[in-house]
Amino acid sequence: MGIEPLRDGHGRQIGDVRVSVTDRCNFRCQYCMPAEGLPWLERAEILRFEEVAQIVRVLAAMGVHDVRLTGGEPLVRRDFPQLAAMLAGIEGVQDLSVTTNGFLLQRDAQALVAAGITRFNVSIDSLQRDRFYELTRRDALDRVLRGLEVLSGYPEAHPIKINAVAIRGFTEQEVLPFAELARRTPYEVRFIEFMPLDADRAWTPEQVLTGAEIRAAIEAVHPLEPLPRDLHATARVYRFADGQGRIGFINPVSEPFCGDCNRIRLTADGRLRTCLFSLNETDLRGPIREGAGDAELEQIIRDAVWRKELKHHVGEPGFVQPARTMSAIGG
Ligand code: SAM
Ligand code: SF4
Repeated sequence: MGIEPLRDGHGRQIGDVRVSVTDRCNFRCQYCMPAEGLPWLERAEILRFEEVAQIVRVLAAMGVHDVRLTGGEPLVRRDFPQLAAMLAGIEGVQDLSVTTNGFLLQRDAQALVAAGITRFNVSIDSLQRDRFYELTRRDALDRVLRGLEVLSGYPEAHPIKINAVAIRGFTEQEVLPFAELARRTPYEVRFIEFMPLDADRAWTPEQVLTGAEIRAAIEAVHPLEPLPRDLHATARVYRFADGQGRIGFINPVSEPFCGDCNRIRLTADGRLRTCLFSLNETDLRGPIREGAGDAELEQIIRDAVWRKELKHHVGEPGFVQPARTMSAIGG
C-alpha cells in the first residue's frame, strides 16, 4: 500500500490535510459562529484518537506530509496533546501544526511543543480589547496575548503566525497596529479575506477587505517587498523594505489559489472534504467502524480525492454556500 501518491482528477498531488479535532469552541467569532453556538456533535459521532491516527497513517503513506490540526477550537478537545503526539509519531508526517484561538495556550503550549507541534497559527483579529470582544464575543485579548508570549518562549515553535480575518468596516483600523506588531516582534501577521462560511450567512462580497487594499494601506507607511512564493502556499508573503518583519496576505476571494491547491480536509465526525466549499463529503468514520482496513480506506480516499473540485465559485453567480460553516469544517 501507499506507493502511488494521492492525486486528484486534475493532476494535483495532495500533500496537506487539515484535521478538525472538534466542532466545539470557546469563542463565538461573528464571522464563524452564531452568538448562541451551534448544535454540537455527540461524543460518539466524533472520531476517536485511534481513528484519526488510522486515517492520517493511510494519508501519510500516500505522501500527505503536512498535517494541520484545527477545529472548532482544537485545544478544547480533551487530551489534545496526546493526539498530537500520536500523529507526530506517524511515519511520513513531516510537518504537524495547529491553528488555535490562543485562549488555552498558556495551559497547553508546553505540552503541545513537547508532543511535536512545530508550527502554530494563532488567530487574533484585533489588538484592542473592546474590538476583540466585539468580534469574538469574548473579553479575552489579554489572555490570548499572554498565551502567545508563553508560546514564543519555545524556540521549536517559531515562526509563529498570527491570522486576522479581514472584514470591511472593521479591519481597516487594525491594519497599521498589526503592521507595527509584525515589525517589532518575530510574529508573521497574515490577513485572511473573509469567506462565505459564516454561520449567520451574512457574508456579502462588499464585506471582503481585500489583501490588495490592506497592502496598499501598509505600503503608504512602510514599503514592502514580495518574498518568493512557496509552492502550494496560501499566503503571499512580504517583508518590510527596511528588513524589519514580515507580513502575509491570504486572498482566497480576490485572488483564488485553487490551481495548485494540494489540500484536503477531515471533519471532526470523520468526513473527507476535498475543498473548503465542497457540497459533497465522503464518510470515512462509517467504514472504519465497520472494520475497514488500511487498504480499503486508501481506496475510498483515492476515489473521493479524484473528484476534488477544480476551483471554488465564491463571488460567481450561482455560488452555493456549503451547509457546514467554518467551525464545523475546520478552517
Ligand atoms: N478556533 C481556531 C482558530 O480560530 O484559530 C481554529 C479554527 S478557525 C475555524 C480557523 C481559522 O479560520 C481562523 O483563523 C479563523 O479566523 C478563520 N475563519 C473562520 N471563519 C472564517 C471566515 N468566514 N472567513 C475567513 N476566515 C475564517
Ligand atoms: Fe471558534 Fe475559531 Fe470559529 Fe472563532 S474562528 S468561533 S475561535 S472556531
